[in-house]
Amino acid sequence: MKFNLKNTFTEELPADPVTENSRRQVKGACFSYVLPKQTKAPEVLHVSLEMAEALGISESDIASEMFTKIFTGNKVLPNTKPYAICYGGHQFGQWAGQLGDGRAINLFEVEHKGQQWTVQLKGAGETPYSRSADGLAVLRSSIREYLCSEAMHYLGIPTTRALSLALSGDEVLRDMLYDGNSAYEKGAIVSRISPSFLRFGNYEILASRQDHKTLKTLVDYTIKHHFEHLGKPSKETYINFFAEVAERTLDMIIHWQRVGFVHGVMNTDNMSVLGLTIDYGPYGWLEGFDFGWTPNTTDSQHKRYRYGNQPNIGLWNLYQLANTLYPLIEDPKPLEAILEQYKTDFEKKSLDMMRSKLGLLQKDDKDNLLIETLEDTLLLSETDMTIFFRNLGKFKKGDAKKGLEIVKDAFYAPNEVSSDIAQQWRDWFERYDFRLDKELLTDLERQSKMNAVNPKYVLRNYMAQLAIDDANKGDYKLIDELFQLLKQPYAEQPEHEKWFAKRPDWARHKVGCSMLSCSS
Ligand code: AMP
Ligand code: MG
Repeated sequence: MKFNLKNTFTEELPADPVTENSRRQVKGACFSYVLPKQTKAPEVLHVSLEMAEALGISESDIASEMFTKIFTGNKVLPNTKPYAICYGGHQFGQWAGQLGDGRAINLFEVEHKGQQWTVQLKGAGETPYSRSADGLAVLRSSIREYLCSEAMHYLGIPTTRALSLALSGDEVLRDMLYDGNSAYEKGAIVSRISPSFLRFGNYEILASRQDHKTLKTLVDYTIKHHFEHLGKPSKETYINFFAEVAERTLDMIIHWQRVGFVHGVMNTDNMSVLGLTIDYGPYGWLEGFDFGWTPNTTDSQHKRYRYGNQPNIGLWNLYQLANTLYPLIEDPKPLEAILEQYKTDFEKKSLDMMRSKLGLLQKDDKDNLLIETLEDTLLLSETDMTIFFRNLGKFKKGDAKKGLEIVKDAFYAPNEVSSDIAQQWRDWFERYDFRLDKELLTDLERQSKMNAVNPKYVLRNYMAQLAIDDANKGDYKLIDELFQLLKQPYAEQPEHEKWFAKRPDWARHKVGCSMLSCSS
């Protein structure tokens, strides 16, 4: 296995001078050198071949013992020095101080086909940032991260990627529901790949310590390697940098809203500065359309990170980043203007996104109302978001009476759709039909546009859980089946029609399906 190594992060940023792997506050540095843990019986369960190819790893490399050793942390590639990164963060609205890569270890950077990648192991042992935890990850959360990050990529949503999923061969003790019932679970390691794993929290920790020198070094490094089109560092460049981070963050969240993805833990340490979806923990997918839904049991009281609140939280997090960058800019006005712009852009982009879901290419002043009424009607009885929008593509102009029939598979309890609700649906379909008069496309053309934004297959919460249940019994076939299915989420895949179905009733209140804790 040969890589075109490029260690910009460790060569250009200040390192923690202490090399002992002990938990501590790390100041004046961006990372600490640390070695991954040796594991008992490493075993690779799945590899993303496309990701391997993007890194220049061949199929014979994948089959080698070396691959297994490197991507489970059991061997360090010559001429590389693994490291854990220092960051802080606001968790659930409160400043939490230093957090850092507590169980992620960055192995090396690779440049391949003009793209820079950082290769990281998640669950490969403790680091100076592990605080009171063990640095490990269990199989269930690793399957969820592995499958979802690749699925998001194929949905066209900016995300960190995954190369491999492996068992460590060690057992890991977890109290899954935080109720005093700890049990041993299989330990696992995911190799994650991203142009960079920098988060808002990387900058926040430096500003919180008033270490403006290192803050400037890190921002300059970020611009040089990841926003090079912005040019040489200056106050103006920093402003443009913040504007672009804000724009990317919003675009990512609009994508989440489009497909019904709920991140679950939008703390500032989980916000990528590149606008990538990062840290797949207790995330979930909307089944019944519901602005108030969150999969994260840790957040069940305040539901801060509920579906409908994600755009606001994006803005809240950007306020923290604005405060962080202020010492380099020393003028609040341009920062405030960018935050204001986020609000206006959100209204516009959100409306455009919803128009695209409805197959509306033209613009009409009353579209907002049409969409609001649709959302209100969707909330009247439990309605599967994915099935509803996918089936809406089958609507035919001039046939409003058939509307309800077309989407009826999306209702969880069709018998409970009262005559009053049915009437509201009929009214809405009349309005939709009337609005379609303004459109120029044929029914078929409109459907194909809608099918390109309304996925047919998403990683429903229960699907990941089925793969996890099988894997815990040593059967990994479903991981591959779902992986392959989710590579073409917008395509009709008749052989996989069974995955285009509402959540089964057994999964409604099952742990892992509708309820996920941060324990992973
Ligand atoms: P998360 O909620 O997964 O974003 O994690 C928040 C912080 O806790 C990050 O600094 C993680 O690195 C750290 N963390 C989470 N789980 C573990 C673990 N098992 N061992 C060490 N650190 C962890
Ligand atoms: Mg995290």
